[in-house]
Amino acid sequence: MPILFGQIVHHIIEQTIVHYLQTGEVPTVAELVNRARGQLNAAFIDSTRNRDLWIQKPNKFYMMQEVYYDGKLEPAIVADYKERMHTIFENFLHSETFQQITASKGSLRIGEPEQFRTMKIDDTQVFVVMDFHYFDEVADKWIIIDWKTGGESDDDRQQLALYAYYVQEKYRVPLENIEVYNEYLKTGQRKKYLLTHFDIENTLHTFQRSVLEMKKYQADIFTNEPIDFEDFEQTSEEWQCLRCNYKELCVHGKGK
Ligand code: SF4
Repeated sequence: MPILFGQIVHHIIEQTIVHYLQTGEVPTVAELVNRARGQLNAAFIDSTRNRDLWIQKPNKFYMMQEVYYDGKLEPAIVADYKERMHTIFENFLHSETFQQITASKGSLRIGEPEQFRTMKIDDTQVFVVMDFHYFDEVADKWIIIDWKTGGESDDDRQQLALYAYYVQEKYRVPLENIEVYNEYLKTGQRKKYLLTHFDIENTLHTFQRSVLEMKKYQADIFTNEPIDFEDFEQTSEEWQCLRCNYKELCVHGKGK
């Protein structure tokens, strides 16, 4: 549910910005809430009534983890997200980012769509799932925005540093000409990060270490064949098993 909710909100925000830039129209909070509610309902219907179709075509139908394992969605979770939706879209429409977009009068150049955002780091292809970036001609700066539907996390800064590195490489601009922000939609807070070259180096170092860690699980580097199922170690942090998608396959997760 948290992942699905985040995906739906991000998608609706992207559509709203694109639609505004094409038409100058701003939707109401109620319209955005209705759209999100419709998509959540569709995912719930898929999960509860279209299980067989999902098994045949898992990339075409939704299956909510909660419904798959628990057979239902707890009413308290549904009520919580229903309540959250209004605040989130209200905060989006009032956010400094959206206000700047509507006030900019054509001085913004939006970055390329998501499907083209890839880069190579040490021969590894990286798909950059960045929410929104644009060039502000008046300020002569690239602006990167990451919308958050959850709370702050220690990883937020590093995630933005990777996006800043991508913008640096893609548009050949110095870090000083890039501004990065998190917009926390639950609270309406906006946080600006002053990234340094140390942040970028640190992020690249974490990236390289993570790639090496993942390569331990490749039996064949040419075919990307994984090592045996049993050789993937189970976590000792059992709280992670609660919401794990794969617990059905994993002895450790059985019954959790
Ligand atoms: S259920 Fe198994 S695979 Fe999932 S987090 Fe727990 S140990 Fe890992």
